[in-house]
Amino acid sequence: MSATRVLVLNSGSSSVKYQLLDMRDSSRLAMGLVERIGEQSSRLKHTPQGGGSREWTGPIADHDAALKAVAEELAKDGLGLDSPELAAIGHRVVHGGKTFTEPTVIDEAVLAEIERLIPVAPLHNPANLTGIRTARALRPDLPQVAVFDTAFHTTMPESAARYAIDVETADAHRVRRYGFHGTSHAYVSRATAKLLGKAPEDVNVIVLHLGNGASASAVRAGRCVDTSMGLTPLEGLVMGTRSGDMDPAVIFHLMRVGKMSTDEIDTLLNKKSGLIGLCGDNDMREIRRRVDEGDEQAKLAFDIYIHRLKKYIGAYYAVLGQVDAIAFTAGVGENAAPVREAAVAGLEPLGLAVDDALNAVRSDEPRLISPADARVAVAVVPTDEELEIATQTYALVGEESN
Ligand code: AMP
Repeated sequence: MSATRVLVLNSGSSSVKYQLLDMRDSSRLAMGLVERIGEQSSRLKHTPQGGGSREWTGPIADHDAALKAVAEELAKDGLGLDSPELAAIGHRVVHGGKTFTEPTVIDEAVLAEIERLIPVAPLHNPANLTGIRTARALRPDLPQVAVFDTAFHTTMPESAARYAIDVETADAHRVRRYGFHGTSHAYVSRATAKLLGKAPEDVNVIVLHLGNGASASAVRAGRCVDTSMGLTPLEGLVMGTRSGDMDPAVIFHLMRVGKMSTDEIDTLLNKKSGLIGLCGDNDMREIRRRVDEGDEQAKLAFDIYIHRLKKYIGAYYAVLGQVDAIAFTAGVGENAAPVREAAVAGLEPLGLAVDDALNAVRSDEPRLISPADARVAVAVVPTDEELEIATQTYALVGEESN
């Protein structure tokens, strides 16, 4: 029997998200989430293909217990991890540094390198490693693949990847712009080319991944040439809870004058800034509701969000020179028509516009929202990071296992 299934694991510090896909038709056989690992009230939600979710609440001590619980749920649907149809496990790994430019089959050396990158990804890489080690213990014989959030951005030229700081200091501490959400940017830029009926090599695309975390990228002929996140996901756009771009001297000022500690400022900029810092809400639905009711604070937060977004559209337009499409994706990008409208408003001289009727359509399908005669296509392209991870994983190991 040929092995055509791929399990995708996205391990956070206290959560594991998973999807089981059949690569013959990219169908989702099951998906789910384990949350609050290590607490008394851990929760597992498992949804098999065709619906009928099962939920379970109780203590799940660690990632090992979480993955075993997931394996049990999958087994109930006849999809156990011991199945010969399982070809591989694909892991989302946040930081691959400069080393990992492609998805990589995991061995001890790869694990050691992901570990070596912990100083640049202290929150994410340890959790990703725990997920990988647990899955390897469960199925030591199965190929496991790391798919890195940074990999798509490793094609950035040095002129975009380097900060203008002392080169020796930067290199000693691996300080450079890595970018994140790469799996999404890769998937969406390719899906946008497909929507235009062209090959990825034949189009230049600006991808706007607007979720709770948000990033923009400039993709020339299928290769990333710039992206808005940097050493960490803090740089760039205004996000749900992150500030994005700022004068770095704000940090010294808060330390010297505000007497704040490094950790306090880290929390301020990553968790209490962006939309939530500006208006107390980070959900764009709630912000729009407040704007429509005339709430001035929500309106200012929205305007700051849009102003930054426009600056990046303009910047990446200039970086690319010729732009074929702008693609909106992720929670806000796929759902918030007012954000899309405001982001391109006034940019008609650049060939950018949205058609109000098309922009108002709600759909899960990739679609164009620009007027038929527009010079630059404006598209809504739902992202699918799990499918992309599964596709990359299967491309690497699928043939060997058949
Ligand atoms: P993500 O990180 O991609 O899951 O995106 C989550 C964010 O998407 C939420 O915090 C909301 O701000 C936004 N979002 C989700 N659904 C909608 C919607 N229907 N309208 C506007 N924003 C939405």
